Amino acid sequence: AKAQARGHHRAYDARIEQRARERRVLGADLRLALDRHEFYLVYQPIVHQRTQRVDKAEVLLRWKHPQRGLVSPAEFIPVAEETGLILPIGEWILQQVDRDLHRLRAALGDAFQVSVNKSPRQFLHDAALQQPRESGLLKEHQGHNLCVEITESMLMEASAAVKDKFMQLRDLGIQVSLDDFGTGYSSLAYLKVFDIDFIKIDRSFVKNLSVGSSDQALCEAMVVMAHKLGMKVIAEGVETAVQRDVLDGAGCDYIQGYLYSPPKPLDEFLQWAARHAG
Ligand code: C2E
Ligand code: CA
Ligand code: CA
Ligand code: CA
Repeated sequence: AKAQARGHHRAYDARIEQRARERRVLGADLRLALDRHEFYLVYQPIVHQRTQRVDKAEVLLRWKHPQRGLVSPAEFIPVAEETGLILPIGEWILQQVDRDLHRLRAALGDAFQVSVNKSPRQFLHDAALQQPRESGLLKEHQGHNLCVEITESMLMEASAAVKDKFMQLRDLGIQVSLDDFGTGYSSLAYLKVFDIDFIKIDRSFVKNLSVGSSDQALCEAMVVMAHKLGMKVIAEGVETAVQRDVLDGAGCDYIQGYLYSPPKPLDEFLQWAARHAG
């Protein structure tokens, strides 16, 4: 039995070793990806329910690896985070969004807003967000054309650095969304400490949403709470008309998900938006 246990142990070690090796290779490729122009952005509409207007979109990063093809962000974002590469990548994203905003605003109105994901490390150290005017960002657009999506884990420490960051964004007019809302382990106390504009109800609450379900009760409660605190609500991962109707009945302000459209490159996104409006 002991020998067998040792055997299992070795197999386990080998798996960990293997995974570490894969991550190193991925990290090395990731380092080259910016220079080789392997990244591109996709936009997913966030639809205002009362007006059915496309006021907002979430921008998501895509990596087309020369051999592997599309690599999922779930796989490479953690590696980018560990290696620090997330910082230059994040700046590239903001510059690209700044360029794309010309066409987005021309097509969808001057108030159009792009929502950008920021990991905790990016949120605190992104130079372009720190000093957008110096970096050239937002020269020709307004602060409200940008929203930053962060997760609850960011707020748990409630450190002075995090509070400063919120103040800086507020001064610039950039809004803040709390992503994956309801999945964190922290308390709700931070909602009164931080100036948050939107909560995004996580897909896990939406997935099995039906009339009379406990998820319906949870969604309704989240909407009531958010509205009382002056925040707007976005539901993400909405795939069916039933889910939308339940969320709409709960008073959810915005809906995002495959029901409307998957994330698409800018040209296709604009074509989709024109059809949706037409
Ligand atoms: P997230 O921020 O929660 O993004 C939502 C994810 O759900 C996206 O996956 C999106 O394509 C997917 N999605 C949208 N609608 C539906 C739907 O109706 N059904 C289902 N099943 N999925 C839907 P994606 O693009 O693979 O991104 C995964 C995660 O990677 C993101 O989760 C985010 O945490 C991270 N990520 C993506 N782009 C960036 C980025 O530019 N910066 C950072 N820091 N993280 C990013
Ligand atoms: Ca997000
Ligand atoms: Ca999310
Ligand atoms: Ca998520």
